Amino acid sequence: MKKTALITGSSSGLGKAMAIRLAKDGFNIAVNFRGEPERQDALDVQALVRENGSEAEIFGCDVSDFSACKEMTKNVKERFSTIDVLVNNAGITKDGLLARMSEEQFDIVTAVNYKSVFNMTRYVSGVMIKQRSGRIINISSVAGVYGNPGQFNYSASKAGIIGMTLTAAKELGARNITVNAIAPGLIETPMTDSLSEELKSRMLDAVSLGRFGSPQDVAGAVSFLAGEDSAYITGQVLVVDGGLII
Ligand code: NAP
Repeated sequence: MKKTALITGSSSGLGKAMAIRLAKDGFNIAVNFRGEPERQDALDVQALVRENGSEAEIFGCDVSDFSACKEMTKNVKERFSTIDVLVNNAGITKDGLLARMSEEQFDIVTAVNYKSVFNMTRYVSGVMIKQRSGRIINISSVAGVYGNPGQFNYSASKAGIIGMTLTAAKELGARNITVNAIAPGLIETPMTDSLSEELKSRMLDAVSLGRFGSPQDVAGAVSFLAGEDSAYITGQVLVVDGGLII
């Protein structure tokens, strides 16, 4: 029987690339995004997973909503029987300098990026504990490791994810569940499309490899942390940034 990966925010960008990569690796995929199941981008991901030989089901759910996450976890378990990999990937930005940042900008970013990781890990870890196995992969950011001007809310959410990763790794290790984080740098997705050309070129100057990352670069790291070769790795933050922060 195939294993199952639940990837939050997998209708677009990094999550979409992870869905395709893990489908190629032999996982069935629970595709999640915020909206209604019939949205075209989610249907496209479902079709791509199927083209790669795995099954995909779409679960629309706002991951900042605690009880909705409980319901989604139950539905994924019913549909696929196991949840072997959880990728906490859903995320948003609402950038602005600290002096002008509104309470709403702070609250929505921390709810979607950070509280969601508690919501999903809280429920999916229960399934994994019963299975006595699982992999949890949290998508942080270099902004959470080194900070980034204009991203007080986002950096806070991404640094918080690292703290949750370390504690969950300590709590869940004895149950054969690994918990790791990935901190991507500058990756070309709809999220970074909105950055100005001037800012992008300034940031690119600091990337040792001299190029933006692709969603496939991050999906490759997810594949490693979901696979057998990383069975003895837990509580780590894998930076995937082309040398941006060295
Ligand atoms: P993206 O293309 O904008 O995709 C974001 C995904 O998250 C979409 O599927 C979106 O679905 C979903 N999402 C947003 N709010 C949600 C909610 N409340 N509930 C459920 N799903 C929700 O962004 P991306 O660039 O792929 O980013 C993916 C992750 O990587 C994020 O956590 C981001 O912070 C992190 N990251 C990205 C970069 C980068 O350079 N791109 C760098 C470092 C870290 P909807 O369309 O329904 O909103």
